Amino acid sequence: MGNEIHRHADVRENVIEHSHHHDPNDVTDYMEAVKAYRATFPTKQDVIEKTPDPAVREMLLRMEQLGIDNSFDRFDQQQPQCNFGLAGICCRICHMGPCRITQKSPRGVCGADADLIVARNMLRAVAAGTAQHGMHAREVILSLKWAAEGKLPLPILGKEKLIATAKSFDIETAGRSINDIAIDFANVLLADLCRPEADEYKVIRYAAPPERQKVWKELDILPISTYHEVFEALHNSGEACDGDWRNIMQQFLRTGLAFVFGSVVNTNLATDSLFGVGERRKCMVNIGALKKGYVNIAVHGHMPTLVSEIVRLGHSREMIDLAKEKGAKGIQFYGICCTGLSAMYRYDHVIPLCNPPGAELVLATGALDLWIADVQDIYPAIMDVAKCFKTTVVTTEDSTKLPGAEHIAYDHTHSNIGETTEIARKIVLRGIESFEARQGIPVFIPPYEVEAELGFSVESVTRDLGSFEPLAEAVKSGQIQGIVNIVGCTNPKTVYERCIVDVADVLLRNNILLITNGCASFPLLKLGYCNQEAIETKCGEGLKAFLKEHKMPPVWHVGECVDNTRSTGILSGLAGLCGHPLKDMPFAQSSPEWGNEKGVGAALAFRLLGLNSYHCVEPQTFGSEKVTKFLKEDTKELLGGVMVVNTDPVALGEQIVADFREKRKALGWD
Ligand code: SF4
Repeated sequence: MGNEIHRHADVRENVIEHSHHHDPNDVTDYMEAVKAYRATFPTKQDVIEKTPDPAVREMLLRMEQLGIDNSFDRFDQQQPQCNFGLAGICCRICHMGPCRITQKSPRGVCGADADLIVARNMLRAVAAGTAQHGMHAREVILSLKWAAEGKLPLPILGKEKLIATAKSFDIETAGRSINDIAIDFANVLLADLCRPEADEYKVIRYAAPPERQKVWKELDILPISTYHEVFEALHNSGEACDGDWRNIMQQFLRTGLAFVFGSVVNTNLATDSLFGVGERRKCMVNIGALKKGYVNIAVHGHMPTLVSEIVRLGHSREMIDLAKEKGAKGIQFYGICCTGLSAMYRYDHVIPLCNPPGAELVLATGALDLWIADVQDIYPAIMDVAKCFKTTVVTTEDSTKLPGAEHIAYDHTHSNIGETTEIARKIVLRGIESFEARQGIPVFIPPYEVEAELGFSVESVTRDLGSFEPLAEAVKSGQIQGIVNIVGCTNPKTVYERCIVDVADVLLRNNILLITNGCASFPLLKLGYCNQEAIETKCGEGLKAFLKEHKMPPVWHVGECVDNTRSTGILSGLAGLCGHPLKDMPFAQSSPEWGNEKGVGAALAFRLLGLNSYHCVEPQTFGSEKVTKFLKEDTKELLGGVMVVNTDPVALGEQIVADFREKRKALGWD
């Protein structure tokens, strides 16, 4: 095997060395590209004119009228953004800097050149994303273990999923209690999360296709553990440590695998085991679904443990009666970002409202009494808007505090996990008190709401179709030309939610089925794409016939960001049935408006699986031709998938259609 690794490493070096050489002192060409890219950024006025959701437009105008800033104002105020930052050639890793690469100073004080600085910045981004999802993983896996040990007063709801997953991980299940199985399973996931010493990475062994495992082993990118790879990424990208940008990119790939299996797949498996897989359900979505006269409570962030208890208590007779005593019609929950998405298909009556940039707009309706924020994608600016409307904000994790918010939280050691019910009760009561205190606050709710269907999963798809067979047949025959997982956050560098919708329109018209989750799913939910009525107007003939026959919407909503695992589960199942490696199938990931650090890992995840990722936002790598080429070309040979960027969403959609045609031709499915 040692020889094979070397052989592959040689291939990698050849790919890189054969790139046409670029004079590192010549910054003019990439600075031109940076400027051209910057010229595509929209202003807030462009967003008002072109954003696809009329509710967003009305709220932007309303906030302008009231003189309240939001992220679109702040993006305008940030212009022009720094060329060096956009090119990725600003380094402030150490305090000898900051250093920036120019014609007269092609190296930083320590001697790092543009390639090294760009590569290090990308590695640190994927490490940060891995830490973020990894902390999410830690809490959910420990919750599963603590629930099984009786330390956390929650029932294990996903027994079937837990037993099936434990069996697939070679954990003995026969004649054992569900709690014992849960503890063993949680321990396996925890070992992968934080072992310091190299050992077999179990989630990869049991959950990744064998073909991929071979590729990753040959590239020597199998992780030791999630914690270790984040640790090592911060280590080797530090000042005066690793001087070889290629080695940095190898750690980028290795950390990417830790991201996939040690922060996303493990979180999904533990979440589905503890809280259940959920059901396909219908609910009303968008801002018009906000209800006047109710105790309105929004859950925002990513952590499901406390939220599950808050929602359960909020739906209890006791709390509803209390709310009614205070003059409310009842208690209504809303979902912001992934906490909301995870909650809405598990518990009835949680209404999805918006992704993170929409939070300020939703708060500005004045309709929310309580805003519960846990971790990640919580803009500090929500406090300014909440203050204007006397909305009580409660933070629930020691990782995330907001000046002006109340903190009713798990402590950082989770020593109070046993008090989950008491903490949840306190929070729901704060919602009822806040409702009482907010009487008379003006409420403005644009009247846009639509029914959406959510909660798709491997289990629901195989149950509703009988098996993967009908979908595999439709893909093989060309009735469905391919499948794209459309995900990612949003980014003010594109017109808010426009690129997601434009890419989706091109794909559906061309008979490409869409799966969605996370923040990109909000425009698709809000604009009717997750409703069977959209079949007629949005889909090409083949896709239309398939969806009508099986009574499914054009976009299958699988949940929160870590539910990418459900998407890859569906895609892997189909590839297996068709007898082809995943990388050869007409499948892809698209995060048209990606922006945050987790977005780097989410797209890389699909490239590691051998599939292309497609975007309308550029990575900050303009300053290094080599790193850009590595991401956009070289990984084709190494992994099978590359990053494709086009700031024009229609052209990007057409590119996906053309690439799928090529893949189909190669498979003989013309
Ligand atoms: Fe400058 Fe090197 Fe320090 Fe970066 S690590 S700030 S390039 S001296």
